[in-house]
Amino acid sequence: MTDKKPNTRRTPSTPHRASQGNRDFRKRTRRDAPAPAAPHGKPSDGNANAQAAILLREGREKSLLRRHPWVFSGAVERIDGAPLSGDTLAVRDTSGKFIAWAAYNAGSQITARVWSWCEDDVIDGDFFRLRIATAIAGRTGLKLDKDSSGMRLIHAESDGLPGLIVDQYGDVLVMQIGSAGAERWRETIADILQQLCNPACIYERSDSDSRALEGLELRNGVLRGSLPEAVEVIEHGLRFGVDVAAGQKTGFYLDQRDNRALTETLAEGKDVLNCFCYTGGFSLYALRGSAKSVLSMDASGDALHIAEQNLSRNNLDASRAEWQEADVFVALRKLRDQGRSFDMIILDPPKFAPTAAYAEKAARGYKDINLLGFKLLRPGGLLFTYSCSGGISEELFQKIIAGAALDAGVDAQIVHHLHASADHPVLLSFPEGAYLKGLVLRVAG
Ligand code: SAH
Repeated sequence: MTDKKPNTRRTPSTPHRASQGNRDFRKRTRRDAPAPAAPHGKPSDGNANAQAAILLREGREKSLLRRHPWVFSGAVERIDGAPLSGDTLAVRDTSGKFIAWAAYNAGSQITARVWSWCEDDVIDGDFFRLRIATAIAGRTGLKLDKDSSGMRLIHAESDGLPGLIVDQYGDVLVMQIGSAGAERWRETIADILQQLCNPACIYERSDSDSRALEGLELRNGVLRGSLPEAVEVIEHGLRFGVDVAAGQKTGFYLDQRDNRALTETLAEGKDVLNCFCYTGGFSLYALRGSAKSVLSMDASGDALHIAEQNLSRNNLDASRAEWQEADVFVALRKLRDQGRSFDMIILDPPKFAPTAAYAEKAARGYKDINLLGFKLLRPGGLLFTYSCSGGISEELFQKIIAGAALDAGVDAQIVHHLHASADHPVLLSFPEGAYLKGLVLRVAG
């Protein structure tokens, strides 16, 4: 048994405190019997019985002391006890000093993800209720719901809930779990969301590729309630159909909301090319912003089908819109060979580099499409270019774009630096949360 009392104080921002009663933890665990392992799929009763611990290698506590919430496998000296993936355990430095409570995952490069820096915290239903309520209240305070019914309610690590994403589309919540810890608390989390938000449906889209890296099986289905036949989200007054069950991510790209609104303000009278258009997000904004024409491309016929429905859903002028099912890498070359040109080009490709290991290959992809984009822009034209790759930093992205402009033979200025909207906050100690970066560039006239 741990000598920590269950606490009543539950402030997520409690500063790190040194261990009080556990100074010689290693001795204690050797003496004690191994922790009883919680059965898979069921939450253990918090960490009240947690004896399991990760002992870090000498000096490898530094990033954790800066509040970065991941323990990489290379930082682990030893695991005490017999924890199962998903169990809560203590993270301790070589001297046995408490650093954090974290969720263990035996099968991941990220051996543990931190739930709390406070030794008095108990990781249980009340803990999750407070974290979830705090995330929701934070968004309410940002007044993001004006003319919009969609919002990211929980942004994983940045909301103190590693591996948990919850997106809201009207009265449907879509939950995506990407860590063994969040997986362990899945039912508890669904109950809390149901109580706090009372949605018609909580749908689970735990089917992203990254689940495999965490050793988790794929899941896609209703968790609570029933899924309405049609799900719609309103964003800045525009209505979009959302394919919650089969669409990409959780069905829609909420992160681009404010960047799409910027597009609208600059589109008037322009010939616009929207590459990787998905269900027509940027295209609809450009049309509402009185673009002269909008050519939109995507490789997914299903996404384009919804895009066309979205056009009529909003009574926008279909005669100014053209949709093409195409591989953008090929289509941009064709447009170049045809001598076509545009006043505004949007490039919002999928994630080319999920981690830094893919950065080099991804950089070639970004350079290619941006170089072609620059070539297709008329003098004075605007390029809206994005990367949602966690493995490409903002600095590297800007360098890639600079290289593309140089090779395309154009001079360009950055007129906006863009990021995900405010419902995707980035924890200061977790820069990985800032996965989306964008630049708006004006080429010389
Ligand atoms: N801009 C969109 C989101 C884009 S997501 C929005 O605002 O909602 C990336 C899109 O790229 C997906 O729709 C995917 O189908 C598409 N895609 C991926 N690879 C592609 C390729 N080679 N050519 C064209 N589209 C591609």
